[in-house]
Amino acid sequence: MTHQRMEQERCDVLIVGGGAAGYGAALALHASGASYMILDRADRFGGKATNAMVGTICGAFLRSHDEQPRWALIGQVRDFCVDVMACGRTVPERGANGLWYIPYRIDAFNEVAMMPLIGFNELTRLRTTVVSCEVDDRGISRVHVESPTGPYAISPGAVIDCAGGAVVSKLCEAAVITEQQYQAPSQVFFLGGIRTDDARTLAPAMMRALMRATESGDERVAAVKHIGILHGSLRDGSVGVKVTLRHRPEQGEDLNELNALGHRTALEIIEFLRQQVEACSECTIKSIAPEIGVRTEQRPVGKHILTQTEVLGAQKPTDGVAVGAWPIEHWGDGPGADMQWLPEGEHYLIPAGALESAAIEGLYFAGRGISASEMAIASARVIGTCLSTGYAAGMLAAYHALGKSRDEAIARLRAEQLPH
Ligand SMILES: Cc1cc2nc3c(=O)[nH]c(=O)nc-3n(C[C@H](O)[C@H](O)[C@H](O)COP(=O)(O)OP(=O)(O)OC[C@H]3O[C@@H](n4cnc5c(N)ncnc54)[C@H](O)[C@@H]3O)c2cc1C
Repeated sequence: MTHQRMEQERCDVLIVGGGAAGYGAALALHASGASYMILDRADRFGGKATNAMVGTICGAFLRSHDEQPRWALIGQVRDFCVDVMACGRTVPERGANGLWYIPYRIDAFNEVAMMPLIGFNELTRLRTTVVSCEVDDRGISRVHVESPTGPYAISPGAVIDCAGGAVVSKLCEAAVITEQQYQAPSQVFFLGGIRTDDARTLAPAMMRALMRATESGDERVAAVKHIGILHGSLRDGSVGVKVTLRHRPEQGEDLNELNALGHRTALEIIEFLRQQVEACSECTIKSIAPEIGVRTEQRPVGKHILTQTEVLGAQKPTDGVAVGAWPIEHWGDGPGADMQWLPEGEHYLIPAGALESAAIEGLYFAGRGISASEMAIASARVIGTCLSTGYAAGMLAAYHALGKSRDEAIARLRAEQLPH
């Protein structure tokens, strides 16, 4: 039975991971004419965007103080953002320093993203985990997975790793970029029964309570360094809260334990907010994100490693195929995020080489798992940029699998996907 199935599972391109990057890749595959399969170990698609409930799409617009936002994304990934707004009835908002973002409803993101992941393609698999890969001189010949119906293998023409954490490169024993410590994670939860509709006073009130308690050595908040509210989430007495931990994950740390820490901390902080913040005194728990928000993990080594200098210098190489427009937002040891800005109105382009494995032919990367330094990924990991790198990796992989030229794929991406 298993053997029979192994013979059947073939596709031009296998997308591993159905988060924002996997979604962007699926859009490109759908447009390319190549056959594709997309799988995810979780029981729903969306990755961090839905399971960690991050709540806003960043990187879709250029930084500006104009009255109206100016798009950085174009083409199908922009259309996705427009559809998510229409579905959730949200509009772009401008925050501090001219940063524009799109608040989204988790169910709206899910609904819009499901179309190409499920509606357009029968070869989608949930609760399916990639566990090993076979590599020969032409690239990855077989990918082995565990699924609810048992293990099986897939023979792809190309693979796009959209899983974060350099999953496929590690399984292929290719080199990866490792840090001693990664950026601080955050736990998101939603509260009801909030007795204010003014986000500008609620967020500082939470932060002031946290700082007072920290100064007085209050054990209840010892694990937490920052409390913020999700932009645009305060409405009808509900709000999304993002609690950032002091703890910075080390290489090899158990993600299940980190998740448990996130949930414990959320429950303690909700009790703390009830006692210390007037507007939260009668709040109720609406939901707690099932996954703690891990910002960065190991990354694969590509033909090019995107750097901080390239991001901040708004560099636009001739093989640039994806668009980044968010500043470097680094959650290190400080109380909040350290921001490093691109010039206003500027964007940078991510070269094709940062999406292509240096070691394995036909292996591509997208999303928070592209080939980038820890500082560069602190910009490129936002959802808008993940959609863009996903789309670009999807087109590059499709052209590779169909035996078409890389230069043609790059030319097409530059014509269709980049701001002019
Ligand atoms: C706390 C926090 C707040 C954030 N806030 C924002 C924000 O406000 N705005 C913004 O734009 N961005 C924000 N980000 C960043 C952004 O949410 C993520 O970087 C982005 O969603 C990552 O998308 P991705 O598709 O690259 O990876 P992921 O969303 O991590 O998707 C990877 C998918 O791969 C699957 N997978 C993993 N391993 C395997 C395997 N072996 N086999 C099969 N499937 C596998 C996972 O289940 C997952 O669904 C935030 C991130 C965090 C953590």
